[in-house]
Amino acid sequence: MVIEPLQLAGASSYHSGLDIGAPEGTKLIAITSGEITFASFLGGGGYTITLTSGNIKFTYCHVSPNYIVDVGDFVTQGQVIGYVGPKNVYGVKGNQYFDENGNPTNGATTGPHLHFGVRVDGEYINPLSLFDS
Ligand SMILES: [Zn+2]
Repeated sequence: MVIEPLQLAGASSYHSGLDIGAPEGTKLIAITSGEITFASFLGGGGYTITLTSGNIKFTYCHVSPNYIVDVGDFVTQGQVIGYVGPKNVYGVKGNQYFDENGNPTNGATTGPHLHFGVRVDGEYINPLSLFDS
């Protein structure tokens, strides 16, 4: 899994996902009903939640380390599954991401936001293609 570093927090550009600027603590809801298949720290994604529905995986990155879901949980569409996380996180073994002051960050991020990625059969698609334009 490759998540490219952000140029700007909240920037909406297609880099294996969509960045949505939001304050820390903003509720994250399940886009669909499915199973939580990942809930841990994941390199550039920082604290990450993956929701799987059939052959589609929805990934929420830079989330709060205070998880309210566990791997194996089944969630329903609209259910709160987590919160936008802080910019800085501490005590993560092997974290390679730091801000300009040398403080460890919640993955490749310059400020609180949601990185939302969608994979269909393992291939990233543009999340905006899910919505009618
Ligand atoms: Zn992003």
